[in-house]
Amino acid sequence: MLNLVLFGAPGSGKGTQSEKLIDRYGLHHISTGEVLRKHIKEGSELGKTADSFISKGQLIPDQLMIDILRAELEKIIADTKGVIFDGFPRTIPQAEALETMLAELGAELGGVVGLEVPEEELVERMIQRGKQTGRADDNLETINNRLKVYHAQTEPLKHHYIGKGKYMQVNGQGSIDDIFADIANQIETRTGMAGAK
Ligand code: ATP
Ligand code: MG
Repeated sequence: MLNLVLFGAPGSGKGTQSEKLIDRYGLHHISTGEVLRKHIKEGSELGKTADSFISKGQLIPDQLMIDILRAELEKIIADTKGVIFDGFPRTIPQAEALETMLAELGAELGGVVGLEVPEEELVERMIQRGKQTGRADDNLETINNRLKVYHAQTEPLKHHYIGKGKYMQVNGQGSIDDIFADIANQIETRTGMAGAK
């Protein structure tokens, strides 16, 4: 099994690169942002709670987020070649919970792909995405708060994973295909596997 975390600031391209990873390696994809947006669209209680945090650019509280992630993981774990975690973990407690969950399933984290993009470009990309998709949290005020939250709560995870020898640094600027080539190369070097599904 190949379990990967896609890590990076908001707007760093996690969703885009996930699609390419799914294509190449036949992995399952869990995007916590997408899961939450689905709940919001359905108007569920959970969706209402999620919306109250997302619209302010804040993180969903750890325990709630961990429960949601566990439920998603349980849906697919029996029958998967591996999972891409996109947007999770975003805090140290979430990272610790992920390690425990994977260990309970007899699995482990193969590596963390860290997409690194300068802040000005992140803001530009999210403003563009907001215009194109109407995504509600892609407005300047919320974006600025998301970036603050990222630096305070999520960025420390980079050092957590460097310390564990799991962090693969990727330059997240350039063409989508060039970025993916770098990711695939680092994954295959690390795991010793070939690119076939
Ligand atoms: P990207 O553009 O790289 O896909 P993003 O930060 O713009 O990243 P999502 O990952 O879709 O977007 O997350 C959207 C929002 O959902 C976050 O700002 C946060 O409020 C909430 N969220 C998503 N994942 C988590 C998590 N693991 N813990 C807490 N809140 C989360
Ligand atoms: Mg995303």
